[in-house]
Amino acid sequence: MPLHINTPLLESRPLSLAAGRSIWLKMDALQPSGSFKIRGIGAACEHHAKGGQRRFVSSSGGNAGIAVAYAGRRLSIPVAVFVPETTTGKAKALIRQEGAEVIIHGASWQEANERAMSALDPDTAFIHPFDDPLLWTGHATMIDEVVAQGLSFDAVVLSVGGGGLMSGVVEGLARNGLEHIPIVAVETDGAASLAAAMEAGRRVQLPAITSIATSLGARMVSERAFELTQSRPVESVVVSDRTAVDACLRFLDDHRVLVEPACGATLALAYAHSASLARYERVLMIACGGATASLAQLQAWHAA
Ligand SMILES: *Cc1c(COP(=O)(O)O)cnc(C)c1O
Repeated sequence: MPLHINTPLLESRPLSLAAGRSIWLKMDALQPSGSFKIRGIGAACEHHAKGGQRRFVSSSGGNAGIAVAYAGRRLSIPVAVFVPETTTGKAKALIRQEGAEVIIHGASWQEANERAMSALDPDTAFIHPFDDPLLWTGHATMIDEVVAQGLSFDAVVLSVGGGGLMSGVVEGLARNGLEHIPIVAVETDGAASLAAAMEAGRRVQLPAITSIATSLGARMVSERAFELTQSRPVESVVVSDRTAVDACLRFLDDHRVLVEPACGATLALAYAHSASLARYERVLMIACGGATASLAQLQAWHAA
């Protein structure tokens, strides 16, 4: 049985009015781990469990780590999540709440990840946060659901970190005969590694992540994500942190669901009446969620 749930598909009246077109929300914020990541990570963990692996390791202090911890608990497989010292107390608490071990190591993700790699053995599966075809196949189920829910749409708006979500959505579109549907790929200023790659015509490494949307904070997108921008319609849009945070607060009032700025970036295209949606009548937005922000944190960012 899959570890993710089928999520609601809502036509949002407030977002549609703001955007001047019909906006549909795939509500993956409601997944049990708080984000879409459990779709792909759940599928990967089930695959490794069937293959006889007896331990999972992650090096994400964000929603990927939370999803691996959740999957491990459901499958009765122990999980260790290696995180840097900068990981928030809330994220660590959410990982521990799932019964996983949190190992704090190093000043940045690079060091935590190196330590995680040195802890691997043949019985242990390392679960990558975005760059793994097993994940993409799992993420693709969200498009299967939208199609089964009967919606036809003329664009998909989604947020991009390392590009796992985008790769999965593209796989889902392709396996439902919808490869022609364009993708609007949204990032925040200071985490825009896809926009930088598209501009350079090759993958580039950002010198640092300076956005508060840490769930979008991959310094370089996956090879697969970049390749998709060269082979199918993908439009890149970059929004400010402020715009993303404002969208989170409006969304909380409108739909009573709290999401991270990583998700707010996508929602912001509707709230800010973005010109990038002008050509579309019926837009599917992936409300990817995120569990690591609190209301107090959103308000503090808003006031800053
Ligand atoms: C991971 C994540 C993203 C970005 O997904 P990628 O697969 O890294 O592109 C966006 N939003 C949230 C809430 C996430 O957890």
